[in-house]
Amino acid sequence: MDILNMELMIENIVIYTLAILFCLLVVWLYLRKQKRDSRKVEDKILKAKQDGLYEPVSLHPVVDVNSCIQTGACITACPEKDILGIRNGKATTINASQCIGHGACFHACPTQAITLCIGTEKRGVDLPHVNEFFETNVPGIYIAGELGGMGLIKNAVEQGRQAVENIVKSGHKTHHATYDLIIVGSGPAGISASLTAKKNSLHCLTLEQDTLGGTVFTFPRSKIVMTSAMNLPLHGKVKLFETSKSELLDLWQSVLTKNNIQVKETCKVESIIPENGHFRVETLNGEKYTTRHVLLAIGRRGSPRKLGIPGENTEKVAYRLLEPENIRGKKIMVVGGGDSAVESALILASQNNVILTYRGEAFSRLKPKNSQRINDAAALRQLDLRLNTNLVAIGRDDVTLSSTNGVETVKIENDQVYIFAGGELPTQFLTKSGIQITTRYGEAVLKHK
Ligand SMILES: Cc1cc2nc3c(=O)[nH]c(=O)nc-3n(C[C@H](O)[C@H](O)[C@H](O)COP(=O)(O)OP(=O)(O)OC[C@H]3O[C@@H](n4cnc5c(N)ncnc54)[C@H](O)[C@@H]3O)c2cc1C
Ligand code: SF4
Repeated sequence: MDILNMELMIENIVIYTLAILFCLLVVWLYLRKQKRDSRKVEDKILKAKQDGLYEPVSLHPVVDVNSCIQTGACITACPEKDILGIRNGKATTINASQCIGHGACFHACPTQAITLCIGTEKRGVDLPHVNEFFETNVPGIYIAGELGGMGLIKNAVEQGRQAVENIVKSGHKTHHATYDLIIVGSGPAGISASLTAKKNSLHCLTLEQDTLGGTVFTFPRSKIVMTSAMNLPLHGKVKLFETSKSELLDLWQSVLTKNNIQVKETCKVESIIPENGHFRVETLNGEKYTTRHVLLAIGRRGSPRKLGIPGENTEKVAYRLLEPENIRGKKIMVVGGGDSAVESALILASQNNVILTYRGEAFSRLKPKNSQRINDAAALRQLDLRLNTNLVAIGRDDVTLSSTNGVETVKIENDQVYIFAGGELPTQFLTKSGIQITTRYGEAVLKHK
């Protein structure tokens, strides 16, 4: 071998070695990044578990790890934050309980590795029985919207319309009830149903325990609401894709007003009793109505439990915390010993004078993090924690607290009261009305063929 060939060979060895080293470096950097990202996702999963957000409560994506090729398309497509992440090269759920069932991940995955399921093996989801006309096993009672298992505004609007059209087709024009139809709930399903009833000249009444808009009304003001084009009865096509809570609420309110439809707000339906071929609908306010058909569009959030104390029906009392950033300088009483009460009290305490009253001797069912935070806040006097007490009366400018043994009673100045005393699940309401329910343990709602 002459010197020239020798030099060429050395040069080649150096080039190939550098190329191999470069490739190894790229692979090493890639693996390091993947490991770091996986660790971040693992930390998020740990936090989700501590916060009780890891286990899905309703609809959620299930990833087939054998088909997943780590494109991350599902994560990019999901409009909510940290529902999915990539761990060890495969997609996985993080805050699965926050999934609202858009199905964007399902459609985005190029290898069809995602199925949308309801419930899990451990945690079943109770769903009512409805036939293809949205009628339950109790003839005359129908169900539309999220209560039936499918989330999303667009689905609720569509089902509300279809359910009422089925009621119209079912006939039964002659009856002795006051109304043809009573709609319970005025979320997107109830609003769409009310418009369809008007369009078909049904004598209809819509009853709502809270405020028009249902779950949408409770969204934070800044939330971007993702939706698809939908047909709103008596209005036409709504081409909103990314919108805001206020834009949607304004639209619904204006369509209802234009068509002279009034929703009876703060009117909770307590029972639906079959009677002489129709139903008697009774409300918490003691009102009674008769109707030939009932449409339940009550969603899945349930109804807050009331304390049944004097003054509870006044405007200063609320059962959920909306837009706490706008509440400042108030004297506030928060009632309850669960996570909602504690989290709300902590949020409000940063800008207000807050008392948290709980009838128990100690908190027993809090997430560990909340338990720590509330004890710290009480120790630092950021809020006034009153254990072993009951709220017994609500006045215009004050509230009355009593010790649980009833020995001591004290009147305290007050501007606002928030009550978090648990609530009645929609399933309890359905069972009371005779509607059959089945628990679904991880059944696929949306899957690739
Ligand atoms: C945090 C969050 C974010 C979401 N983001 C989106 C999004 O971006 N896009 C989207 O499409 N969907 C979103 N959703 C889902 C969407 O809000 C729901 O799928 C939709 O509101 C369901 O409509 P509904 O009419 O079936 O029920 P709801 O909107 O829940 O309305 C039910 C109504 O019935 C009332 N009611 C209940 N019981 C009674 C009773 N006994 N008597 C009288 N009234 C009663 C309730 O007060 C409520 O007003 C989100 C949900 C959540 C929780
Ligand atoms: S279904 Fe929707 S909210 Fe749930 S993970 Fe998929 S894209 Fe996100």
